[in-house]
Amino acid sequence: MTSSRKQPLARCILAGLMLLLLPATGRAMAEPVFSFAATPGKLPKTVLPNHYALDLTPDLDKLSLSGSESVDIEVMEPTEHLVLNAVDMTIEAAAVDSEAASAITSDTAAQTVTFAFPHPIAAGRHQLRISFTGRINRFGRGLFAVDYPTQEGRKRMISSHLEPSDARRIFPSWDEPAFKASIALTVTVPQAFLAVSNMPVSGEEPTGDGKKRVAFQPTPRMSTYLFVLAAGDLERATADASGVTVGVVAARGKSQQGRYALDTAVDLLRYYNDYFGIAYPLPKLDLIAVPGGFGGAMENWGGITFFESRLLFDPATSASDARRGIFNIIAHEMAHQWFGDLVTMAWWDNIWLNEGFASWMQAKAAEALHPDWQTWLNSDGFRQAAMGEDARRTTHPIQHPIANESEAMTAFDSITYAKGQAIIRMVENYLGEDLFRAGIRAYMKQHAYSNTTTADLWGALQAASGKPVAAVASGFTEQGGVPLVIAQTSCVGDTQRITLRQERFTIHDPAPQPQRWQVPVVRGGGGGADATVLLDGAAEIAAGRCGDPVKLNPDDVGYYRVQYDAAMLAALSRSIDRLTPADRANLLGDTWALVEAGRTAPAAFFDLVERVTGDDNRAVVDQIIRPLTRIDHLQWGRPEREAFRAYGRAVLRSVFDRIGWDAAPSEPADRALLRTRLIGVLGDFGDDAIVAEAKLRFAKFLGDPTSLPTALRATVTSLAGRYADRATYDTLLALGRGTTNTDERVRYYMAAASARDPAFANETLAIALTDELPTTLVGGLISTVASQGEHRDLAWNFVKANFAALDAKLGPSFKDNFPASLLTNFTDAAHAQELASFAPAQATSGGRIITARAYERIMTAADFSAQQLPAVNEWVKRRMAAR
Ligand SMILES: [Zn+2]
Repeated sequence: MTSSRKQPLARCILAGLMLLLLPATGRAMAEPVFSFAATPGKLPKTVLPNHYALDLTPDLDKLSLSGSESVDIEVMEPTEHLVLNAVDMTIEAAAVDSEAASAITSDTAAQTVTFAFPHPIAAGRHQLRISFTGRINRFGRGLFAVDYPTQEGRKRMISSHLEPSDARRIFPSWDEPAFKASIALTVTVPQAFLAVSNMPVSGEEPTGDGKKRVAFQPTPRMSTYLFVLAAGDLERATADASGVTVGVVAARGKSQQGRYALDTAVDLLRYYNDYFGIAYPLPKLDLIAVPGGFGGAMENWGGITFFESRLLFDPATSASDARRGIFNIIAHEMAHQWFGDLVTMAWWDNIWLNEGFASWMQAKAAEALHPDWQTWLNSDGFRQAAMGEDARRTTHPIQHPIANESEAMTAFDSITYAKGQAIIRMVENYLGEDLFRAGIRAYMKQHAYSNTTTADLWGALQAASGKPVAAVASGFTEQGGVPLVIAQTSCVGDTQRITLRQERFTIHDPAPQPQRWQVPVVRGGGGGADATVLLDGAAEIAAGRCGDPVKLNPDDVGYYRVQYDAAMLAALSRSIDRLTPADRANLLGDTWALVEAGRTAPAAFFDLVERVTGDDNRAVVDQIIRPLTRIDHLQWGRPEREAFRAYGRAVLRSVFDRIGWDAAPSEPADRALLRTRLIGVLGDFGDDAIVAEAKLRFAKFLGDPTSLPTALRATVTSLAGRYADRATYDTLLALGRGTTNTDERVRYYMAAASARDPAFANETLAIALTDELPTTLVGGLISTVASQGEHRDLAWNFVKANFAALDAKLGPSFKDNFPASLLTNFTDAAHAQELASFAPAQATSGGRIITARAYERIMTAADFSAQQLPAVNEWVKRRMAAR
């Protein structure tokens, strides 16, 4: 790291269009390019797997798994021991060539198994044969079972989820991403099942006992975490995309709901083949809908798994805009087929290469194929959340050491995804689209079927562009934190000059480690075209005539905050109507962040809010809603809360009254999305008319489902649940229990879980202990109860009282994540202390990291409440008195 080095402040003066870069300061790439020998990990690098021939027989009744494998290995230097990964399984026998292992030792903590042999295994190629038994679980890691409702009653299927390190729950393996090998799977399943894996089926034969053996073609070399197996009473719909068979696999009777996904995948395959310059390398690509087990999606090579409602679209019940979410998640997972699957990060310290890039590519693809969605503009909340995390003391660099599996789980956070996405976007903007893509194509070509570090990516982009990519980008990936650009204006004659300097932007961190970035600061408009200065210290730029409004970070592309001086903020505020929606949203977002950081008074933000109340842009309104709901949450139990909610209702009502409950013919889709968002928030803020109308519409819907447009169903159902009486609560649960549609099932149960009445909250929590819902939804059910301010204590006491039962049910990630996440619903120091002393949450190093982050979040909220809430309440009091 070179961030805190001392160096005289460089002064850089730019005028008009001129792009003047500071001389590269020679920030060395601290991280070396990929080398297998230097890659972190636990397994010895002296034995390499080349190919697994894997034979699995899952028993869906006993939830057990028996298997055998024959692994072609290459021994680099003679050894008497082989060490590989295995967890929660029993090894029955192991042999190399014709010699059986003399001892088999499992290390539960390290998740390894060691085979000792009576004689050294000579250097060269050998065959390792292992037979083993393992388990099928219900908590969504390794091979898991899901029971789901159908018209013919409950059915059971199996699926897998292996990232980061759960292949070792299915078969003994070199389960670290740098150990790439091909895999040829054979699996024995009931005759009526459809079995799906990474590659196409190469043959099937009945085994005579109502079962069949299904063999799959061998995969190319790949990391074990990308292996997939799903099997059940499933069906597949397919389409051809440039010679690749694309399929949607779903529970029998549902594949037609995969039509939109299938069309999308065909479009995306064409787009990505072109973008990456390498055609999709496998003969087929399945999108597999799984009705439980996990909440999102997983990019297994050639067989992507999705939580069912993230993939399927039912025109009778799904809001038409659900297509955006389906497109985005498919675009993300398909980008991984190249970025992650074909070229894989060497170790989990670089997981951002996978996730930041795929998150960026999904938005890039959406902008290319559906420009009317304005994906960058509308996904700004995602980045704002990451910038909030990144401003805290417990943030971490995008690239950071990962010591073990529990820590690898913590890396899948907003820094990895959303900051990673934002940095890639900023780098693309800095290089230009064409040079950036040329670098990506060269990177793909050079590293296909292999591994990389971030340095390999910067090297390829630098070679393609000739710009100092590593020096700029590594400042954002190798150190945590958000740059703050402080802008001050002065007048020389009639010419406006702006001085820029940088600091580290922090929230609730009084003594941060000082840091320094090379920030590509862009100055927008101001009478001329945009200009970029690479800010490394301080700079001065010319910016039109005195008093002209100057907006930095136009279109919100850069990963930095801006603090304007009073004159600049006043000029921007006066001309706010002339800024683009992205700039209005960015100005609101930065101003609110400065309030959270204690750098400016709440009035600065609320004054801006007053200036944009005529704004109906969804992204802009969203930047108002986020602080309002945040403050409302902090006001729980305070006497000033009601006055604040009245203010919030007044602000949002003025927007909603222009939009109304019913869609105008051919209105823009974003208007429909803004409508549902406003109804939801106004309902939560206790707007009586909204709540009454929602109840009325829900009652009508029960009699005639077509009376309620699909776009309004989620919001209206949610409000009906929040303000439910006994009859409505029972109705919601009956609807949830009666449907076979996963999207509706989630909607009804979660609406019931948000009920205000404590009696209903208790009944909902009791469901969490039954087998009524798949375990993935159990966590969501409890979290929904806990997110209602009045039930925080109830939910937390329930979790403590049933900790052992929930821990057993929800699996090994529960302890590390769930208590910490649940306690962030509290905003007081006492609960932060309670979390800090709650031992089960800190049993692993990953758990300690997550606990420390949650503790910081709670304390940040507590201190904000003490320091800034009084000023917020004072401002609201004056404002409401003036109305
Ligand atoms: Zn991803």
